[in-house]
Amino acid sequence: MLQRIDLAEGKVHAFVTVTEEHALRQARLADERIASGQFGPLTGVPALIKDVICTKGVLTTCSSKMLQNFVPPYDATVVEKLNSRGMVMVGKANMDEFAMGSSTENSAFFTTHNPWDLSRVPGGSSGGSAAAVAAGETIYALGSDTGGSIRQPAGFCNIVGLKPTYGRVSRFGLVAFASSLDQIGPLTKDVTDCALVMNAIAGHDRRDSTSADYPVPDYTKALITDLHGLKIGIPKEYFVEGMQRSVKEVMDAAIAKLEELGAQMEETSLPHTKYALAVYYIIAPSEASANLARYDGVKYGYSAQDAESMWDAMQKTRQYGFGPEVKRRIMLGTYALSAGYYDAYYLKAQKVRTLIRREFDQAFERFDALVTPTSPTVPFKIGEKTDDPLQMYLSDVCTLPINIAGIPGLSVPAGFAEGLPVGMQILGKPFSEETLFRIGYAYEQATGWGKMRPSI
Ligand code: GLN
Repeated sequence: MLQRIDLAEGKVHAFVTVTEEHALRQARLADERIASGQFGPLTGVPALIKDVICTKGVLTTCSSKMLQNFVPPYDATVVEKLNSRGMVMVGKANMDEFAMGSSTENSAFFTTHNPWDLSRVPGGSSGGSAAAVAAGETIYALGSDTGGSIRQPAGFCNIVGLKPTYGRVSRFGLVAFASSLDQIGPLTKDVTDCALVMNAIAGHDRRDSTSADYPVPDYTKALITDLHGLKIGIPKEYFVEGMQRSVKEVMDAAIAKLEELGAQMEETSLPHTKYALAVYYIIAPSEASANLARYDGVKYGYSAQDAESMWDAMQKTRQYGFGPEVKRRIMLGTYALSAGYYDAYYLKAQKVRTLIRREFDQAFERFDALVTPTSPTVPFKIGEKTDDPLQMYLSDVCTLPINIAGIPGLSVPAGFAEGLPVGMQILGKPFSEETLFRIGYAYEQATGWGKMRPSI
């Protein structure tokens, strides 16, 4: 695996840190466990962790100058859990700074390239995680998803990515972006691996007060290839204007395939979908502006040394430490939360959030699941959207509503348009990950799209 990383990294740039010694040490431990008969399906399996998830003694930068030298003194719960199952961590993955973005172009260090076409983005913010899985530089990866950051890069790189139900996976040790939306999840080469990683990381954690005390099933039991008895809705608002025609064609074929596998497919409508983007870009920046207040040059990370006063130090620290997108979000958020504007923006957004959630609740009274495209377009060119933040924000229209509602979403390879990967998003009610796995697995087994790998 380390050799493969050496070979591919010059082109893909998915890793902020390669943890070679750490990996060799963990591999020796895994060998000992296997020799003594104490092992499970993830023992000795290489993994890459998004650089927003704390790893004890290993640099955790959030791809930001602010945390360029930050070495956490503890492991995130998900890392503890994977370590206890014999993970071999090969490194930390590049991302958009503090997980704000859709392309990894907001990384303060470098942009990750899509292994299917090196002139294109891998998606984001978990672009490093997705590109590395696609390029065979790791077997699986962890990402975080606040508005699509696991599913959209999974779709762009032809792999599987799950945003679990809010509260299903502990956020302890995940550097906070927007706490009511953030969730950790797996990026894997197929649905089986995704179920195996979920078996390891899901569950209640006393150290995360939003984590749900709800039993964790064996997700691999859901992997069956028959969809008879399932009713799946196709919400027409997700087949939006501005959606690429070739993506629509792939989705039409995918929907026909699901029907052939026994599912009953029916068009439906979720009219509040059109407010999701606006709601997200009030709530996420508001929460981010509060969460990022802690980077003041005193407690963590970078600290400006050439300042004349305490205020000057704070200002210089934040001026140098944060990149332009992070500053934009902090400004948006502090504005939306300020006295006089709070009711008009933040409170209003919270109310519409409730409407969006209720609309999904109602849909799931009639349907076992919903399917949509993961993204309205194929992976775009590096640099194509960097000058136009609104265009960049639009690339998440299909994924944002899912975080707003707190429901689970799985992206699986759906096929190819113009030679580039297209993802299909499968949605379900809270804690219905098993249904999503069943649909994803049946589709994967029937089509084989997920088996295609880029030549790199
Ligand atoms: N692209 C979205 C944003 O920029 C979502 C990011 C995420 O899910 N972390 O906020």
